[in-house]
Amino acid sequence: MTRFIDTHDMSKLVNLSGVAGFIRQLVDYIEYDFLRWGEFDKTPRVASHSDIGVIELMPAADSAYYGFKYVNGHPQNTLHNQLTVMAFGALAEIATGYPLLLSEFTLATALRTAATSVLAAKYLMRKNARHMAVIGNGAQSEFQIIAFSEVLKLTDFWLYDVDDTATEKLAANLRDYAGINLHFCRSVDEAVAQADVITTITADKTNATIISAAQVKPGMHLNAVGGDCPGKTELEARILSEADIFVEFTPQSRIEGEIQQMPDDFSVTELWQVLRGERPGRKSDTAVTVFDSVGFAIEDFSTLRLINDMARQHHIGSTVRLVPAPANPRDLYRFLKHPE
Ligand code: NAD
Repeated sequence: MTRFIDTHDMSKLVNLSGVAGFIRQLVDYIEYDFLRWGEFDKTPRVASHSDIGVIELMPAADSAYYGFKYVNGHPQNTLHNQLTVMAFGALAEIATGYPLLLSEFTLATALRTAATSVLAAKYLMRKNARHMAVIGNGAQSEFQIIAFSEVLKLTDFWLYDVDDTATEKLAANLRDYAGINLHFCRSVDEAVAQADVITTITADKTNATIISAAQVKPGMHLNAVGGDCPGKTELEARILSEADIFVEFTPQSRIEGEIQQMPDDFSVTELWQVLRGERPGRKSDTAVTVFDSVGFAIEDFSTLRLINDMARQHHIGSTVRLVPAPANPRDLYRFLKHPE
């Protein structure tokens, strides 16, 4: 039988160690898989675009497991009180193709995106960074702030969103969170003025200029998360030509990332190369670094592994009859008439 993790089960799994504890474990799982990058079967995700959104499939496999995620991105959904990003995922064993796990992945996506951001920042931001601007205060934002606070010890978060109610929601959620100082800002300029790190996590299917080159100071690290499909970017192109750019999987990032604005031979470093010590990360305290995050299938694969490991260890979730189990596997027809 296949283990099934619904949204309530995911909450139980996360609450075993709290959001920060879960993100820390995810950082370890993702780092472990990035360090063995060459062992994976990799492909850019398969995207189906419409004028108002995108639906994507994200597969990855090693020699033991195959994982995939279904995920959408519909920025206008919030106008109808629906989520912008929703997802589910599955993990199967390579030996038989048998699906081991079917899991909610909307919460998991927010957790793994934050985990990947802090994994990148661990290698790219200045060690003395304490202040982060958070531009876009929607569904992903609290996860990013908790991750940067707990894993990288950032203390002050400068918040800006075009919609005040998003920032008010964020502040209400994190008001009593120890070690997190929140500052409301009236403009992007005000939010980035003190920032060592800038996280952009807005949702708009357009080539936006959320951050312009004039707002970027020497030594900053940019965690550019919201621009993640063709025609959807957040940074002025000049920032990219003047900074050191780090991506997840170059063939996918050239289609979907901030670097879609740059020529095809524009030089970038893949994050796994920095983790393995094969390429430099931050070169000096004055360098500007950009993590051009789009979300890559190996991060979801790592997350599926963690969910599967924890769910089995703590007996969380249910089992579903996703695959028929006929007494005679060549007699599928009889199973239809007499399901056992
Ligand atoms: P959301 O709709 O819940 O929140 C987006 C917020 O951005 C809203 O509060 C909106 O008011 C604000 N916003 C829009 N335009 C803005 C602007 N010009 N300036 C300031 N704020 C602005 O969406 P979400 O679930 O938080 O996702 C945010 C983005 O992150 C989406 O584009 C999504 O596709 C992307 N995302 C990326 C990854 C990744 O791995 N890179 C993973 C998950 C989500």
